[in-house]
Amino acid sequence: MNIILFGPPGAGKGTQAKRLEKNRGLIQLSTGDMLRAAVAAGTEYGRKAKEVMEKGELVSDEIVINIISDRLDEGDVKNAPGVIFDGFPRTVAQAEELDKMLGGKGMKLNAVVVLEVDDEALVERITGRYTCAKCGKGYHEKFEKPKEEGVCDECGSTEFTRRADDNEETVRSRLAAYHEQTAPLIAYYETAGIVKKVDGMADIDAVTKQIEEVLDGLA
Ligand code: AMP
Repeated sequence: MNIILFGPPGAGKGTQAKRLEKNRGLIQLSTGDMLRAAVAAGTEYGRKAKEVMEKGELVSDEIVINIISDRLDEGDVKNAPGVIFDGFPRTVAQAEELDKMLGGKGMKLNAVVVLEVDDEALVERITGRYTCAKCGKGYHEKFEKPKEEGVCDECGSTEFTRRADDNEETVRSRLAAYHEQTAPLIAYYETAGIVKKVDGMADIDAVTKQIEEVLDGLA
């Protein structure tokens, strides 16, 4: 089963993708995570992407398509029961290319799960979030604090990081890019009849439950 988790930045795509990985063995393919890794490693793609990401704009279609195509050919992905596209596609050109890519690899998309959220909530969600520097567990200053302040629930680490692009100014640019370039994809996938909308404003567990119900309905 291959799905797209779709929604604006801060909708909860990454959080929900991690839960689906755990519950169903699907593999999360986050172009944002892949690009951040490329930036940290100083690869050619990383050098090209860094400034664009810091401005909250979209990296070129060519770069993200190449990154995704290479990842789909790796062994763990090929042997998985399916993948979750998280943050990809973000433009109509990327969606068209994804269709071609999946066709060529004998794969298909089963659903586009759209997390519906109010724009107002997103800035607060994003600017308050941080992750454990060691295990990557996500937290939020207001909505999901560690049980013991300053200590990761999962691994006990006391070091945390924040994304460079999670400041208010960049978040506003990212939201604008979403509305201009990415939201039109919902209509693209509606013509294929695979769009499933869920209420992304519910609490994290309730959103997971809605997504699981959608996926159970596909099986
Ligand atoms: P994300 O982690 O999904 O919020 O992505 C962080 C940043 O990486 C975005 O603001 C873009 O600059 C870049 N990015 C991630 N995925 C894509 C994509 N599919 N197309 C273009 N840029 C992307």
